[in-house]
Amino acid sequence: MHRILSIVTTLEQHLIAVTCADSDIYRPLACPYCGMGGLWRHGCYYRKADRCGMNSKSLNPVPVPRYLCPPCERTCSRLPLCIAPRRWFDWAMQQVVLALLLAGCSIHHCCRCTCRARSTVRRWRDWLQSRSEEFCFYLRSRFPELGRHADRDAFWRHVIEGRSLAQAMAWLDRELVVP
Ligand SMILES: [Zn+2]
Repeated sequence: MHRILSIVTTLEQHLIAVTCADSDIYRPLACPYCGMGGLWRHGCYYRKADRCGMNSKSLNPVPVPRYLCPPCERTCSRLPLCIAPRRWFDWAMQQVVLALLLAGCSIHHCCRCTCRARSTVRRWRDWLQSRSEEFCFYLRSRFPELGRHADRDAFWRHVIEGRSLAQAMAWLDRELVVP
């Protein structure tokens, strides 16, 4: 999909890139729906992406540039690495939760450590379980050294420790729809 722009890793970098008039790093080379090039800038939409800043220092709402494909008249956008597509929380928070579970923590303990709701923790755990086979296939084809980890949990522990969940998802985003 190439929806994730992995070179932009913080909200601060993202805001500079979006507000700088010369910068157009978010413009997709081609429309994800029909494949045509020549997309037009089409305003922004806004996300509550800053989960850390206190009220007065919050960077919210965070603008995300939108692009219009003239031939098919559909709009699309790309996101920095620090904002997860279709998720309220960023990859870093998801990584903390998943790393605890992969290390053998119970759901209960994980909720207490991360202050995340039980339903959220379960949803992320189930998501990784259900997509794991597909994700592993693509990650192993790109990073052969990952093939050494036959066990699913060991594989993901290695991915998270060696890269990060965000970097792994940015790479998978080129081949698949994530999350
Ligand atoms: Zn199109």
